[in-house]
Amino acid sequence: MGSLALSRVDAASPAPTIVDEVARLARQELAPLASAIDAGSVYPGDFLRRIGDVGAWRSHVPLEGPADLRCAIQSMAALGEVCGATAFMAWCQNTLVWYAANSTNMKLAARVGDSFASGRVLGGTGLSNPMKSFFGIERLKLKGRKVDGGYIVRGALPWVSNLGPDHFFGTIFEREDEEGDGTAKGGPGIVMFLADCADPAITLQPCKPFLAMDGTGTYGVQFRDVFVPDELILAEQAGPFVKKIRAGFILLQAGMGLGLIKDCINIMDEVHAPLGHVNRYLPQQPTQFRELHAEFEKEAMALARDPYNTDDAFWRRVVALRLRIGDASVAAAHAAMLHCGARGYLKSHRAQRRLREAYFVAIVTPATKQLRKMLAEPS
Ligand SMILES: Cc1cc2nc3c(=O)[nH]c(=O)nc-3n(C[C@H](O)[C@H](O)[C@H](O)COP(=O)(O)OP(=O)(O)OC[C@H]3O[C@@H](n4cnc5c(N)ncnc54)[C@H](O)[C@@H]3O)c2cc1C
Repeated sequence: MGSLALSRVDAASPAPTIVDEVARLARQELAPLASAIDAGSVYPGDFLRRIGDVGAWRSHVPLEGPADLRCAIQSMAALGEVCGATAFMAWCQNTLVWYAANSTNMKLAARVGDSFASGRVLGGTGLSNPMKSFFGIERLKLKGRKVDGGYIVRGALPWVSNLGPDHFFGTIFEREDEEGDGTAKGGPGIVMFLADCADPAITLQPCKPFLAMDGTGTYGVQFRDVFVPDELILAEQAGPFVKKIRAGFILLQAGMGLGLIKDCINIMDEVHAPLGHVNRYLPQQPTQFRELHAEFEKEAMALARDPYNTDDAFWRRVVALRLRIGDASVAAAHAAMLHCGARGYLKSHRAQRRLREAYFVAIVTPATKQLRKMLAEPS
């Protein structure tokens, strides 16, 4: 742990907190890069390492039991206020740290040490397919079989972000040498591991251009009989492991949406002086979004203190909050566009970038439709 205090919530002294430092670096160093990241010409690896130096990736590491995600969420909100793509990459990195920190594999701890939490090594998560599989939406795409000292894994994932030649990510395969039904519902036969992009049997394939998020180091990943050694196994039984980490996985996404909504409110406020006399006839006003933002932030901070809570009611609150944040991100960005008028229709104005980023908050796993399915069915 660095010398910085954890979060604004805990700040009892004038010392800068991690969140303050991340916010300062976002304004000073990230803001000038945001357009290039959006255009896909920059992947901000140096910036991601830089905020690792101020402790951005380690505040949610559980220490002797409980974990607290508040500082991580607030830091991602500070990034998201400036650049949605970077807030998403921050979520990828925080999720990678979250997986490694919750693994009980001592060999894994010895191999990766604090390289993810310090930001020395970057990476992300390939859990969209398994998360959909856990909720009966699609079949697992990776297959593995046990060999001496590890597993051999094959298959392909269509999109994994925050990757590069020396990056890692966490994902899941189904054992083809054991009984399984092709879903990740949890039985034995489902293994969670870290993929090492430097492995020559792993290929990163560039994706077709997206609507936004092109600077996020997103690739299609092919596994051609990759040997995954025992020291890269996060959990031999992925079912119970995912049950443990899933609330954190979803709660950490709150930061992306909170930051984006805040900037949409800023955009509406910025055009109030020249256009307020007519904008007041629009049905959605910044005041409503300020109230919503405050409500979401309060709920996120309450849930983030207790990410290992196993109550069904807690899990449903997490899912409901995530759904509302996705909906509100799109609504706030839409309202910002209407408030801006022609100003926001310019490619050089960030309002249209925020709109494109907002749709990502609503479609990244768990997407709006999956969240609705999860709430509609018994847990
Ligand atoms: C920019 C970007 C970054 C992403 N980063 C990650 C990440 O880091 N980790 C991660 O696990 N997931 C990542 N995803 C996937 C994301 O989380 C969602 O899974 C995805 O947006 C689709 O979710 P959905 O529930 O709407 O599924 P749907 O879109 O309803 O269905 C998804 C399935 O449809 C098929 N499919 C549809 N279109 C295509 C296509 N063009 N190419 C290939 N297959 C297709 C695939 O089988 C896929 O599994 C990323 C997606 C995008 C667009």
